[in-house]
Amino acid sequence: MRKRFVSMAVLAVACGTLPAVAWANDSAQFPWTGAAAKAAAAAATPPTAKEGASPPAVTPAKAANATPVPDGGTAAQAARENAAPPAAKENAAPVIPAKKIFGAMKAPADMKARAIGAYSRGCLAGAKALPIDGTAWQAMRLSRNRNWGHPKLIALLEKYAGEVKEKDGWPGLLVGDISQPRGGPMLTGHASHQLGLDADIWFTPMPSRRLSKTERENLAATSMLASDNLSVNKKVWGDGQVKIVRRVASYPDVERVLVHPAIKKALCEAGDTDRKWLAKVRPYWGHFYHFHVRIGCPPDSPSCTKQAPIPGDDGCGKELDDWYKLLTAPPKPKPRSVEPVKPVKPKPPLTLADLPAECRDVVGDDAAIETASPQGKSTPAKAVPAPKTANTPSAPAKKTKSAGTD
Ligand SMILES: [Zn+2]
Repeated sequence: MRKRFVSMAVLAVACGTLPAVAWANDSAQFPWTGAAAKAAAAAATPPTAKEGASPPAVTPAKAANATPVPDGGTAAQAARENAAPPAAKENAAPVIPAKKIFGAMKAPADMKARAIGAYSRGCLAGAKALPIDGTAWQAMRLSRNRNWGHPKLIALLEKYAGEVKEKDGWPGLLVGDISQPRGGPMLTGHASHQLGLDADIWFTPMPSRRLSKTERENLAATSMLASDNLSVNKKVWGDGQVKIVRRVASYPDVERVLVHPAIKKALCEAGDTDRKWLAKVRPYWGHFYHFHVRIGCPPDSPSCTKQAPIPGDDGCGKELDDWYKLLTAPPKPKPRSVEPVKPVKPKPPLTLADLPAECRDVVGDDAAIETASPQGKSTPAKAVPAPKTANTPSAPAKKTKSAGTD
């Protein structure tokens, strides 16, 4: 019975009878709409909240380029829509949001490692876990199970942690979200982080002791912003933060590092004569508790969608000025209550059909079945067991906080 239900669901997806999704990359975050509201939101955004999934941009034109639609011929979309009569839609199996499927995955797919699709619309095969403790790092928010990445990213993070400790005098890294075991969309937070090529690193230095699991759930990160939200707080921001951002942005494999505009400004003003790494440091909303590191498509991932190249200059001129115009723009006047307000239709969530076809192999049909079943447990197909991590904290694991958007 369950099998049959899923067969219908898979068929519906494969036949394209589900609604075509004109999905955008978390457009609510883009800077050209409601700037002041976004600035306020930026100030309230906690460490691992929604991410800039695309190259940060200050113009709508750039944003359009930043949200690739992999199967996106307009003619094909029109054909799909015309081919789905109302009766067929009524009988269609319920659409399962891809975030539910990928969010239920507990272990990686036992496949050759590769990133599939776009940073905000894809998945990850053969993921590797970042051990929760290393010589110079500790993973945070363990209940989220998002310490998975492409092996290339995991290797880079391990090397990076060692180098900041050894060469920059940084106590060690607190590592936030990377990706889910099979990548893909998440139930909470993040438009990107879907390919195992993105990682959030806290600006807060690692404490000298090993944190308990409970502490890793609850420890608050420190905002680097001053109360004006336009500059950094010199009491917490310093040369150490400059050094660790500089180091990671200097790695050839790193394509982008996302930080709040005020942090970009502070980096621009740090006086470094080498401006090349600064070009990779991109201003974006949020990102003042943590910075976001993104590596490029690995050579083993031919179906990974490359991003547009970054502009050649250091980004400390007009681009930053444009961001400050947005940050300081007056709030839009609220519409008068007597005026009719057109309701905004919520954006439908991504489905498996919106992701590259290879992502269906990554989750496996069985996983989709179990996820779709109200009583079903998640028993992923072709899963490999999560590796045992050395140096597991001795404190009892107590889940005190849900893996929300904070
Ligand atoms: Zn991020």
